[in-house]
Amino acid sequence: MGAIFLRLWSNDAVTHLTNPDGVDVVVIGGGVVGCAVAEALSRRSLSVFLLESERGLGLRGSSRNSGVVHSGLYYPPASLKAGSCVDGNQRLYAWCEQAGVAFRKTGKLVLARTVEELPHLQRLFDNAQASGAPGLSLVDGAAIARLEPQVHGLCALHCEQSGIVDAVGFTRSLASAAASRGAHVVVGARVLGAAPVGGDHLLDTTLGPLRAARIVNAGGFGAPAIAGFFGVHHWRHWACRGDYFRLRSSAAYRRLVYPVKVPGDPGLGIHLTLGLDGSARLGPDARYVDDADDVTPAEHLRSTFAAAASRLLGPVAAEDLIYDGCGVRSKLAGPGAADVDFVLHEEPAGVIHLVGIESPGLTASLSLAADVSQRV
Ligand SMILES: Cc1cc2nc3c(=O)[nH]c(=O)nc-3n(C[C@H](O)[C@H](O)[C@H](O)COP(=O)(O)OP(=O)(O)OC[C@H]3O[C@@H](n4cnc5c(N)ncnc54)[C@H](O)[C@@H]3O)c2cc1C
Repeated sequence: MGAIFLRLWSNDAVTHLTNPDGVDVVVIGGGVVGCAVAEALSRRSLSVFLLESERGLGLRGSSRNSGVVHSGLYYPPASLKAGSCVDGNQRLYAWCEQAGVAFRKTGKLVLARTVEELPHLQRLFDNAQASGAPGLSLVDGAAIARLEPQVHGLCALHCEQSGIVDAVGFTRSLASAAASRGAHVVVGARVLGAAPVGGDHLLDTTLGPLRAARIVNAGGFGAPAIAGFFGVHHWRHWACRGDYFRLRSSAAYRRLVYPVKVPGDPGLGIHLTLGLDGSARLGPDARYVDDADDVTPAEHLRSTFAAAASRLLGPVAAEDLIYDGCGVRSKLAGPGAADVDFVLHEEPAGVIHLVGIESPGLTASLSLAADVSQRV
């Protein structure tokens, strides 16, 4: 094999390395999931490369999210989403504690504000319990007022295990741990194609060829296209965009506050999340879009957000909101279709694909990585 140029993430230096014949695993994609997989694999005696096309790690979906550590309320019991979320929640807090990544276990309230919403809240509670989500209780209006004086509701699901995390810091800490155990974390390396060679896979990358025995496809929105390089054409990702607005004044809230999910909404409904800096954010909403790369500010949504916020929190004026960016979900379910589970699939032998890793992918990342590592 010839030499290739690698850009090492840790110091961004360009180094001339000889492509070792014996690369055991290449992880494609340096979002939170790819970094978690590289970290898990680096604990074993395997040579690991992580290839990320952007100039840094976690610049796509993994840094354009709410940074919420979910509890596992919303997904069908026994699904991969539910299992990896409940398990990943605990793993994530433990990791952040030992790695010094900023997080806060804020807790969360999911509100029923009308009598009509009460059955939806009860169903959510039953579903979450069946999924094994810990630390849940149903609380009445008086308890809501004690927990979160600015917020009103008839009843709420109180989730003690929900919280917030520095998603970018978390992603980097995983890559850093992997690199410290010898994994090669390479940014600016786009995978362009793949071909079988003597039982291995020869990747064509923008930094040259790389041969590997095993591949993990953690390409986020690009995962179906990467699967296509291996002759696997099962999936299509739909781009479902979510925008955010920040509240000018935020000091009032201590917990995350969500409306109860309405059947048919591809998101969770516009909700209130908190930043580690004390800021309060509204969103994301959920809208299918044609262009996953278009992140033009959606200022025109200000009044829609103000109306949704007012229903959730009491009067919020449009002037109280500052536009605060957007993210794009990688959805396997198209417009109007029921949500589907995360996909973790091996095909052909030795190539593992992670597809449809929308929310709660940040929370679930360490659990998915443990699962992948067992299969590699
Ligand atoms: C609006 C929004 C809010 C969310 N909120 C939450 C939340 O609060 N909590 C939660 O748990 N989850 C949340 N999520 C979900 C979470 O952000 C994702 O599940 C998670 O970031 C997915 O990580 P990933 O590594 O799979 O994908 P990405 O972060 O997209 O990483 C994939 C990487 O692969 C790279 N790549 C693609 N193609 C190639 C190629 N050919 N060669 C090399 N590299 C390539 C990309 O550049 C990218 O960096 C949210 C998502 C969105 C959109």
